[in-house]
Amino acid sequence: MKQWMSRLIDQFNFENQEEEVRSGQFKLNEDRATILYLIDILNKNLFEFSGHPVRKIRSELDDFAKGLMSGDPKKIDRLLFRFREFYNSYRLDEYTYIMKTFSDFRAIIWDFVEQIGEDLSTEQQCETSLMDKMEALRESVESSSLEELKEKSLNFIDTYIEYQENKDQRRVRRVEAIKKNLDTVKKQLSDANENMRRDHLTKAYNRKSFDEQIRQQSNLNKISGGYVSLMMLDIDHFKKVNDTYGHAIGDFVLVELVKLLKSIFEQNHCFVARVGGEEFAILLPNYKIEMAEKMAERALEEVRKAVFVEGETTISFTISIGLAELSPGETVDEWMKRADAALYFSKNNGRNRLTLADPKKSLSVA
Ligand code: GH3
Ligand code: MG
Ligand code: MG
Repeated sequence: MKQWMSRLIDQFNFENQEEEVRSGQFKLNEDRATILYLIDILNKNLFEFSGHPVRKIRSELDDFAKGLMSGDPKKIDRLLFRFREFYNSYRLDEYTYIMKTFSDFRAIIWDFVEQIGEDLSTEQQCETSLMDKMEALRESVESSSLEELKEKSLNFIDTYIEYQENKDQRRVRRVEAIKKNLDTVKKQLSDANENMRRDHLTKAYNRKSFDEQIRQQSNLNKISGGYVSLMMLDIDHFKKVNDTYGHAIGDFVLVELVKLLKSIFEQNHCFVARVGGEEFAILLPNYKIEMAEKMAERALEEVRKAVFVEGETTISFTISIGLAELSPGETVDEWMKRADAALYFSKNNGRNRLTLADPKKSLSVA
């Protein structure tokens, strides 16, 4: 079986096939494996939006994946049909959600522009009425008696002073209103931007922003040299946590792990991202591998000794880590592959440990 296919089977890891997978009897044709692969990608890039909790979608996708793995040819057509329907309607809802988010933005900007427009037109009206009074005064200069002119002049001067005072007040008010509005718009835009960069459950950075960040880091490194390390981290036997305590506790573990990782890494300007279900990637700018190794050891140790409590449940677990420092001339993909292979090595050699990637090529997987 091709390597990507066996890794995929590991990824889904279904109870009923475990024995067959272990004994090497399990067969998966390439078409089904490709669909499984697509399901896996979809799974990794899910984001929460109204009416579509990630957990629900994930469990639907798991069901489809299980169906595909079961290999029953009679059921497969029906399954593919259901999957197509599911996928269509999901994407449609996703599209509607994104369009709605855009139109919310549009509404914010529209309100903002409207308000400035209103302010300017008030200003214009005041100026027009002042101009009218000035015109009347000009006429008085030509036609009225001196007494009348004196009175009208004084009147105009009062009006003009009042106009100026009001104008100043209006200007201050307007500037304040614009500033407040701008602050609101800015905050809403940056919140939305930040939300899009974060994983909804754990609030770690998501896969998409990790991909951007790692490319930026690699480019930066090409320009200015220096070091940067990458840590791939995966919870050991996480499936058992779900199976034993339920998904809610599984989610709780993910949230708590991210809190712990952030407390260790973020103060050192490292970038903590959730790149898969229970897989995390941490970028360590300015870290040589030896320094990154110390951080990884600390993370291993802190997770080992942590006891997480949620209601009646007390839970401890371990993690496995793969570490790679970016080599000169290396592409991002090569770098990630080395870190991944190192993680895989940790997994295959007892878990609850870290492995340093070979600086040049991928580690052979035991
Ligand atoms: P290993 O030590 O080899 O990593 O084993 P594992 O059981 O941790 O790994 P495996 O990849 O077999 O299982 C990962 C599980 O993580 C399967 C999936 O249901 C679960 N999972 C993925 N995302 C979430 C999530 O958001 N919440 C919860 N509760 N579980 C999740
Ligand atoms: Mg795991
Ligand atoms: Mg995993």
